[in-house]
Amino acid sequence: MIQIHGLNFTYPGRTFQLQIPDFQVQQGEKLAVIGPSGSGKTTLLNLVSGIVTPKQGEIEVAGTTVSSMSDAERRDFRIRNIGFVFQDFELLDYLHVLDNILHPYRISRALRLDREVRERAALLAGQMDIRNKLKRRTDDLSQGEKQRVAICRALLPGPRLLLADEATGNLDPRNKGRILDLLFEAVDSHGATLLAVTHDHELLPRFDRVVDFADFQQTAAA
Ligand code: ADP
Ligand code: MG
Repeated sequence: MIQIHGLNFTYPGRTFQLQIPDFQVQQGEKLAVIGPSGSGKTTLLNLVSGIVTPKQGEIEVAGTTVSSMSDAERRDFRIRNIGFVFQDFELLDYLHVLDNILHPYRISRALRLDREVRERAALLAGQMDIRNKLKRRTDDLSQGEKQRVAICRALLPGPRLLLADEATGNLDPRNKGRILDLLFEAVDSHGATLLAVTHDHELLPRFDRVVDFADFQQTAAA
């Protein structure tokens, strides 16, 4: 599902450098990514989703080389194929909860908003315990509630790749297990792949594989 070769990435004007010679994720795999803060975990998810592009190297997702697509193509590919639960949620505070969840359908012709989608949105919100918050503005929500809105938005289109950046980070222990159950269920139900950054070491045994970012060669240029 994901193949990375000879990756080299830097942010303009920064010394941080992410180098990944070889990295693969199989279709259907549930992979956890751990590693110290600032080691490039979020950057990796941004590269895989085509939000940023590498200076060198190839990134292939579901048989498509995202690293060589145009900006518009990458955006379209992302909306069709990838669900992303961002570390800082990236909810739109001028929209209420339901409109945030439906937002990918409003900004792309690749997704069609119909009754069935609305019904699934309500169902997902129910599973995430935010069904009674659908008409609230997102800035009235707790961190844990915002996180669950972000998860609903990522899952609704049924993406074949789910990227989750510390998606259980703001939840209490009981909710952590539950949210992970729901993420796994959503992934398993249509053979999707999960790449999840996490700090919750007690959740790691539930993943198929754990990649420690400390293992990637990171050279901070002087
Ligand atoms: P992690 O998710 O592992 O904490 P990040 O991928 O967010 O790490 O960040 C890796 C490094 O890149 C950090 O040094 C961070 O300051 C820097 N960085 C992250 N995003 C940007 C950006 N948009 N512009 C410049 N530097 C960034
Ligand atoms: Mg991060």
